Amino acid sequence: MSQNSIVSFQCSNCALTMFPRHTRCRACGGTEFVEIPLHEGTVLTHTRLTATRPGFAKELRLAVVELGNGVRVVGQIHGDQEVRSGSRVVVSWGSLSEKEGKVSSGFRFLIV
Ligand SMILES: [Zn+2]
Repeated sequence: MSQNSIVSFQCSNCALTMFPRHTRCRACGGTEFVEIPLHEGTVLTHTRLTATRPGFAKELRLAVVELGNGVRVVGQIHGDQEVRSGSRVVVSWGSLSEKEGKVSSGFRFLIV
């Protein structure tokens, strides 16, 4: 996976795009997919989470983001910029949590 994209999977038969990959297309049952990297998207809705698990920041900003082709994912918003429904974001890769010296990384979003 690229550092600045989420790889979606488009069905070669019907063009439905999914993330994560499924064994079969949920629309037509197809089993062949083309990988499509998605780099940016739009915040559909967001919230602040203040009861977090050990290792995570004491407050997290989470958003449902539509990346393209109907792919929607939930992820952390990083940076200090205000987030709103409709905010444009880019995908980045970085630390999501750290517990007992072990860093867990994954995709997250930066407001642009
Ligand atoms: Zn399909």
